[in-house]
Amino acid sequence: MLQFRKMKYYSTNENAPLAGLCDAVIRGLAPDRGLYMPERIEPLGTDFFEHIQDMPFQEIAYIVAQAFFGEDIEATALRQIVCDTLSFDVPCVEVADNIYSLELFHGPTLAFKDVGARFMARLLQHFIRQERKEEIKVLVATSGDTGSAVANGFLGVDGIHVYVLYPAGKVSKIQESQFTTLGKNITAIEVNGTFDDCQALVKAAFMDEELNRRLNLTSANSINVARFLPQAFYYFNAYAQMKRMRKADNLVICVPSGNFGNITAGLFAQQMGLPIKSFIAANNANDVFYQYLQTGDYKPKPSKQTIANAMDVGNPSNFARILDLYSNSWETIKKHITGATYTDNQIREAIKKCYGQTGYILDPHGACAYRALTEKLKPHEVGIFLETAHPAKFKEVVDDILKTNIEIPERLATFIKGKKQSLTMNVDFQALKFLLLNV
Ligand SMILES: *Cc1c(COP(=O)(O)O)cnc(C)c1O
Repeated sequence: MLQFRKMKYYSTNENAPLAGLCDAVIRGLAPDRGLYMPERIEPLGTDFFEHIQDMPFQEIAYIVAQAFFGEDIEATALRQIVCDTLSFDVPCVEVADNIYSLELFHGPTLAFKDVGARFMARLLQHFIRQERKEEIKVLVATSGDTGSAVANGFLGVDGIHVYVLYPAGKVSKIQESQFTTLGKNITAIEVNGTFDDCQALVKAAFMDEELNRRLNLTSANSINVARFLPQAFYYFNAYAQMKRMRKADNLVICVPSGNFGNITAGLFAQQMGLPIKSFIAANNANDVFYQYLQTGDYKPKPSKQTIANAMDVGNPSNFARILDLYSNSWETIKKHITGATYTDNQIREAIKKCYGQTGYILDPHGACAYRALTEKLKPHEVGIFLETAHPAKFKEVVDDILKTNIEIPERLATFIKGKKQSLTMNVDFQALKFLLLNV
């Protein structure tokens, strides 16, 4: 490998120039509306996998980060970014026989998006210091957890202003409090529409010639390579933990999926040599991907509101990356991923059953994945589901199902006490444009 050859990123639509890391991160979406993909996915050596069980999380993550970003960021800076990002643990906890929960909720906003958001904030800050001085405006559409992770990941970072667009009345009070009470460089925008409307507004802003001429706009949705690639870290760390427990053969990983950024990072990890037998994409009633697996036809639909609302996505943006990764082959995709889809009632049943049988409290997203494992795991396989949020983030729903009064962790309670500050907007691109140019 040539040391001086920096990683390039191409667009899944193959109709845009190659970009370097800094450009790919600042643009978010490629000019042809495609998603950026790294031109190389470096397999990690057998030596790494033989010793992975002896390494701490931050060291494992640093080696994975180097494979993607090592040509662009010098070693000490990259190590610092990785260590600052991973200021919390991601334990793999046994829930039932051969079923483990990868608890991704020990970060500041109690959801897995903390990992990607914190990494991206630190990477952008690095680039602002090194190469650019003008302010960067980060735009993010959220159905709940993205907004809080991004807002908190970027809070107080000099040179960056964050705008969080969210659908009015469609995120829980607890979620809302995590991005509307922060102030400083965070502006929350309450949109009278759906999550898909918010996402479309954000995409339109990136396509707007005037906005792009006048502002440095970037996205922090999982379309951004700096948010989505770091999610590979914890798949490797999960494997290390399973190896320590001598449970690392025939691993099946089940990911509750919405925009499919999380599972795509896992698929990248597998391409890098991580020994995962197969993946399950667990969906709520928004079953576009599930239907694709059954039929080979991808038919986006409007999103449906469910109790696992961070997965209420009717047109998952990272589907383009999955297609690209497997050269558009439905057959190959089906070999790597199977699907599951559950109604709200089935999610409720799973939460109840798991609590009754094991005492473990699932959140509604993790519940889809847990249920899929209990239904699909074969006798010789070991399953890990990604517990993507702490159940207390969905306290009303979970308490109602279990007749409990689950405890709210301290760091979550602090948000709830804060005062809501937000702007209100209709689904109107001109209004958003005015706001971005003036606030
Ligand atoms: C965002 C989110 C998901 C979906 O993740 P994707 O990467 O969009 O597939 C699942 N669960 C929770 C709790 C989330 O916040």
